[in-house]
Amino acid sequence: MGKITIAVDGYSSTGKSTIAKRLAAALNYVYVDTGAMYRAVTLYALDNGFIGTQDDIPALVKQLPKIKLKFVPNKETGRSEMFLNGENVEQEIRTMRVSRQVSKVASIGEVRTKLVEMQQKMGKDKGIVMDGRDIGTVVFPDAELKLFMTASPEIRATRRYKELLDKGEKVTFAEVLKNVEERDRIDSTRTISPLRKAKDAIEFDNGDMGLEEQFERIHEFAKRVIAREG
Ligand code: C5P
Repeated sequence: MGKITIAVDGYSSTGKSTIAKRLAAALNYVYVDTGAMYRAVTLYALDNGFIGTQDDIPALVKQLPKIKLKFVPNKETGRSEMFLNGENVEQEIRTMRVSRQVSKVASIGEVRTKLVEMQQKMGKDKGIVMDGRDIGTVVFPDAELKLFMTASPEIRATRRYKELLDKGEKVTFAEVLKNVEERDRIDSTRTISPLRKAKDAIEFDNGDMGLEEQFERIHEFAKRVIAREG
């Protein structure tokens, strides 16, 4: 049976990556978290003073060729981790410091062009589950299966808040909720590749459904699409 391309898009913290990761493992497909790529560029911009108290976007754009991103599988967990210019930044890119700035960096055209090109290369042989905001609309508009995940901001912020507390970050629920809503606002209103549900995407609201039940449904559905189109 041939392989297909699976695009998973949606708002922040809708459980996209959990579903996409599990789906990839179950199908023996490659999983790519494109949010990690935007987060790594943001970390670079913060550490090099291109964004923060004052932004210098043209200077950041000039440095883009110097930013080398790589997913490297962790030998113990098998999960892929983000490396920025040879350094493992998997933990750092998930902090609030990065979350606060990432949507701004993701709205820069040159950043998107660079990352979309990398993503298209990663998926050229199909057999991939990619999650992000513009996968079904821009990166792989011909993907055989497109999912669009939603849930209320409160449910999403609760999930994110728990994750951050588990990692030992000192944040308040109000701050996390504000960040989730703010990122959604910037992501859906930006000029270039705004977050949109592709016309042919199937919407899943996981607000009142457990991730386990949702995964089972999506997995069954994916197997049918693969049998038909793979
Ligand atoms: O998926 P995650 O929440 O880690 O993504 C972080 C941010 O990266 C998003 O809020 C969005 O601004 C940006 N992003 C994007 N396009 C993608 C993936 C992420 O603009 N394909």
